[in-house]
Amino acid sequence: LSLALHQWRLAARHLLEAITDPLTGLLNRRALFERYGQRLIGPETAVLVFDLDHFKSINDTFGHAAGDRVLKIVAAELAVNGGPSDTAARLGGEEFALILTDVMPNRAEMVAEDIRKAFEDQKIHVEGETLTCTVSAGIALGCPVPMDFDAMLSAADKALYIAKRAGRNRIELASHLHSV
Ligand code: GH3
Ligand code: MG
Ligand code: MG
Repeated sequence: LSLALHQWRLAARHLLEAITDPLTGLLNRRALFERYGQRLIGPETAVLVFDLDHFKSINDTFGHAAGDRVLKIVAAELAVNGGPSDTAARLGGEEFALILTDVMPNRAEMVAEDIRKAFEDQKIHVEGETLTCTVSAGIALGCPVPMDFDAMLSAADKALYIAKRAGRNRIELASHLHSV
């Protein structure tokens, strides 16, 4: 029995490692797509994409380890601002996604704004220095006509790009792709 238990624990740990981003503890990109990739996204769901602002200069100025600290902090901010049925994931590099379910009107915007503000206000201490960082976000709200997850993600990405162009440290809503 104890051997079986051991094997089971090992299998469970491997399963967890396969879906987890090791740095931040969030779901990795593959796990996010396993969860949502085949789904149609309706009006009760919002897809948010976050990207750190001028993150390269954080690495360049304070070092890669400091950059890693910053990534962990923004990931924690995503995790605490989402509810139990929401999904936070690291898409890769300094890009993250948050899938919000049961979005009441304006909830997605409010959550994104809470995250943006909380992150901006964090004083991050590394090796005797204090740094701050900001994040931009793009939001795609589900429509009554469901859209596939990829389309939602790229709509959120386009909005993110607009947020960057508009000066960063801000959130932007995707324009509706089709009228209903
Ligand atoms: P923008 O505001 O336009 O998003 O500028 P940016 O500097 O954030 O964007 P850019 O794509 O030029 O740089 C992203 C940087 O993220 C470059 C890369 O070295 C860094 N990065 C990616 N993954 C990691 C990681 O796991 N740890 C650390 N420390 N840095 C990472
Ligand atoms: Mg990026
Ligand atoms: Mg960036």
